[in-house]
Amino acid sequence: MSDQAGIYLHIPFCASRCHYCNFATGGYESELAKRYVAALLCEIERAGKSDAMCKVDSIYFGGGTPTTLSIEQLAAILDACHQKFDVAAEAEITTEANPGTISLEYFQGLRSIGFNRISFGVQSFDNAELKMIDRVHNAQEARAAVHLARQAGFKNISIDLIAGLPEQQITTWQRNLQEAFALDTEHLSVYLLELYKDAPLLHRIERGELRAIDEDVTVAMYYALVDEAARHGYEHYELSNWARPGFESRHNLKYWTGAPYWAFGVSAAGYDGETRWSNTRNIHEYLQCVENGESPVQERIALDDEDKQSEAIFLKLRLQDGVDLQTHQTRFGVDVKARYAEELTRLREAGLIEMQNDRLIISRAGKVLANEVFQAFV
Ligand code: SF4
Repeated sequence: MSDQAGIYLHIPFCASRCHYCNFATGGYESELAKRYVAALLCEIERAGKSDAMCKVDSIYFGGGTPTTLSIEQLAAILDACHQKFDVAAEAEITTEANPGTISLEYFQGLRSIGFNRISFGVQSFDNAELKMIDRVHNAQEARAAVHLARQAGFKNISIDLIAGLPEQQITTWQRNLQEAFALDTEHLSVYLLELYKDAPLLHRIERGELRAIDEDVTVAMYYALVDEAARHGYEHYELSNWARPGFESRHNLKYWTGAPYWAFGVSAAGYDGETRWSNTRNIHEYLQCVENGESPVQERIALDDEDKQSEAIFLKLRLQDGVDLQTHQTRFGVDVKARYAEELTRLREAGLIEMQNDRLIISRAGKVLANEVFQAFV
């Protein structure tokens, strides 16, 4: 696994706000976008030079909807990254994108400036579900977007789905899975719906207009996904992520393996191996800080050795390979079996973890109760 750094760039513009979204994003306005890109270029240029973080092998544009920017704007941002950092020739360069908003010409433009991976926010292939969560695309547009990206030469495509939508039934979920696997993308991410307190979707549930689904249905959906993905040859390499062998998200793996990553833009969060930091979520505050030559960082948390070793356990437990206990002891001087003897016995007896060749692995049952497992090591 690479220990080179990644770069995350946040683009906070969307065509409209989906009814469950809690990301830092707002409506696209061309003047605001121009100002934002200029600020992003400044923030990249001012990044401190830290040897450990100069070599970069992944760049990830997230949001928001990064493809609201023009190809020229995205090219300028990529160029700034290349100027500032030592970006590997074979770096993974990803953008998130929304189906129904991109032409073949735009996909070709993305390829021509260096993007080699695209991650589509499909969320569902059921038009009624898409309408309920106020996505701007329909199922046909989702399928078409994947085909257009292929036509433009993308050989590494990911799609995101959401499980556990209100009113969702196991049968509609299974149809979603069939549609997803029929597209034969290299990567699939599936997130369980989580609603923040002001989400319009939550208000509709509270008013009784929509019915939240039962937890046991969500668990059945997760197991259906795990089994179908395996049947279609995908590796379940992280709790919420599946990939064809060799197509694991290099960028996202950095989050789970303790590798460093730079972060630029509104709400972007970075890590240098010692400190985690995050920028303000407010675009106007962000612009003001950067334009005045000040840092947009709102929070910094320095990790001590104990934080790092406990993080290493619960982040790596997310991964198929789990925690290599010998490597953990060498790196942190902590004998996991001795330190967490009581917790390990309890989790093993509950069937939530397994020990395989001196590796601590989360079990099939543990995957649906992952937060309970992680809590034991916090
Ligand atoms: S497209 Fe993504 S970032 Fe934009 S509003 Fe919808 S969920 Fe949020």
